Amino acid sequence: MKTLHIIRSGKLLLAGILIGCTFGFAAPAPAAPKKVLVVTVTKGFRHSSIPTAEKVLAALAEVSSAFKVDYARTDAELAEKMSAEALKQYDGVIFANTTGDLPLPDKEAFLEWIKSGKGFAGMHSATDTFPGFPGYTEMIGGHFNGHGPQVKVDVINQDQECPACKHLPANWEVFDEIYLMKDFDRTKVHGLLTLDKHPNNKTPGDYPIAWCKEYGKGRVFYTSLGHREDIWDPKWPDRKNSPEVAEAYQKHILGGIKWALGLEKMNAKPQKTAVE
Ligand SMILES: [Zn+2]
Repeated sequence: MKTLHIIRSGKLLLAGILIGCTFGFAAPAPAAPKKVLVVTVTKGFRHSSIPTAEKVLAALAEVSSAFKVDYARTDAELAEKMSAEALKQYDGVIFANTTGDLPLPDKEAFLEWIKSGKGFAGMHSATDTFPGFPGYTEMIGGHFNGHGPQVKVDVINQDQECPACKHLPANWEVFDEIYLMKDFDRTKVHGLLTLDKHPNNKTPGDYPIAWCKEYGKGRVFYTSLGHREDIWDPKWPDRKNSPEVAEAYQKHILGGIKWALGLEKMNAKPQKTAVE
């Protein structure tokens, strides 16, 4: 009986080691990628950079393994994928150069969905979207107020710790169409990139470029850069920006998107002054 007991104990010990190896010491499984809806519907100006933006966002999703992309490119796809019910399947929405009054099935439900703890990221003309919908402007943090000719600017990096800007120099030289903003309140956002003078006539002032903000339990990231193909794509043939600028832009938006999805930490508290 004693021998049998020892054999049994040995078997139990072996089973314990096997279970320990299988469950106790194995590396934790990576989290499932987040699901993101990329919206590129336009009801106003349509940027030629939209197909490039779609490709770059898909590549960033793939390379980072952080998220998977789905697209809403048509009114029918907006109706199908942005109802209150359909939005539940997504962790975030990206407005990549959208313009005008988009025919969302339920605009208020979209804002409530973000407030519930989801992520929103917008590029360039995302602020030239929903001109007659103050709730959207309040969510994104500002509205397009025109632009001058495309120009080279020295963008001031306001947060060299954050995932959207930590790879950028203190002053980042970019050539793009630079938006002017209205309905922007610096006390409601955390500034990421800005200009301390008008992009074209160089009059001193506060000209925000990128910011992040909390919105209810949700997170909102916006960058006004992204008009030109060569700022999205380092391989675009006809260039005014170096490939390095496009690579830096991709990291800028990837950092913002990952934060909006809750995958990175970023200070979203408003700064005390315009350039801090
Ligand atoms: Zn533009």
